[in-house]
Amino acid sequence: MCPETNGVEAAVIAVGEELLSGETTDTNGSWLGRKLAALGAPVVRRWVVGDDVEAIQAALSAALAEADLIIVTGGLGPTRDDLTRPAVADFLDLDLCSDPQIVDNLRKRFRAHGIADLPASNLSQADVPRGAQVLTNKLGSAPGLLMEHEGRSVALLPGVPREMRGIFEDVLGDVIRDRYEGRLVPLVHRTLYTTGIAESVLGERVDEVRVGLPEDVDLAFLPSLRGVSIRISTRSRADAAAKLLDAAQAVLEPIVEPYRIGMGKRDLVEAVAELLTKGSHTLAVAESCTGGLIAKRITDFPGASTYFRGGVIAYADRVKLELLGIEEAVLVETGAVSEAVAAGMASGVADLFKADVGVGITGIAGPGGGTSEKPVGTVWYAVAGPGGVRTSHGVFSGDREAVRERASQAALLLLYEMLETGA
Ligand code: AMP
Ligand code: MG
Repeated sequence: MCPETNGVEAAVIAVGEELLSGETTDTNGSWLGRKLAALGAPVVRRWVVGDDVEAIQAALSAALAEADLIIVTGGLGPTRDDLTRPAVADFLDLDLCSDPQIVDNLRKRFRAHGIADLPASNLSQADVPRGAQVLTNKLGSAPGLLMEHEGRSVALLPGVPREMRGIFEDVLGDVIRDRYEGRLVPLVHRTLYTTGIAESVLGERVDEVRVGLPEDVDLAFLPSLRGVSIRISTRSRADAAAKLLDAAQAVLEPIVEPYRIGMGKRDLVEAVAELLTKGSHTLAVAESCTGGLIAKRITDFPGASTYFRGGVIAYADRVKLELLGIEEAVLVETGAVSEAVAAGMASGVADLFKADVGVGITGIAGPGGGTSEKPVGTVWYAVAGPGGVRTSHGVFSGDREAVRERASQAALLLLYEMLETGA
């Protein structure tokens, strides 16, 4: 997809050994990705390198070949492993000179913290490559630095996320806006949330209508354990972008509609909450394999107390018998993971909590406990409402967490469908 103008492309280099070893996640990279896309200078590539002069310079060399704006984060601290400043200055052939204003600010900072003498190691933080613009850091000692090199911009920001964000929000964002005025084309996107349809099936159906989509939009399929979202994005000016997104959505709507929860809500629980409130229902849940996950998801949503009565984690058979009134003969005959038990749990918990809607769920989350007849991932779930009981089941894939997450979503979807068609 080509932007309408000679767009600005950005690259991010995250410096830090701890990022490579996985001790710290490169959240600076993802934060800058979002910010720069919204600003209109999307990140086209990211590098993560250790505290190593050669590695920093190799990444910078590659980034300069690819992007107009390069942001380097990390390695501006006062210790020996902080090498970004000299590595970049050396690569760009710029002398480092101590900036008296920064030295003064550092002194004041330390004095404010009760330290009379500025430690010598901190003096390196006042070194500025010749010609660089100093970007004030209100939250820490190392200021950011911005340089121009052969028509490209190179910014150095501290690694501490709070400080990096602060400098970007306070100054760098505006500086980029001014510097690249007229060339910035923000990335605009809209997400259609679906649940109950596999990514491959959704992808195939979308392929059938793809020719009808406007040329300047991109689609991304984003699967999670709760469903697949379709992200429609475009890089166009604001008025044109809204029209393109509307046009793309109109093409996708007929496919997505049956799987689109509560008119595009992000979370199924929110859509369920709306229907429960609208119908003045009360809800109770009896969970075995999900161990309270459904209750947690329901109560994660603010205002749940108006419709949610409570739940039972009916893990042991005795609880299913004694608390939920499942008959022993049914348990023996069908096993704990069965349609009859799920239905009995749903009705039993509704009675127990005097709720008019009950959900029951029982299954084998794994990794053990599966049989050839009921493999790991087999889950039965039921919803009991004023109009009767509905049951369904699935064999969900993945590890224990994935099975539980997928099963909770399936049960909530059954609840949603039942409420939507009048409980
Ligand atoms: P530095 O500026 O390299 O001394 O890093 C200071 C602190 O910021 C360290 O605790 C790092 O783990 C953290 N940090 C550095 N780079 C990143 C990054 N890309 N994302 C998140 N945290 C970071
Ligand atoms: Mg570091």
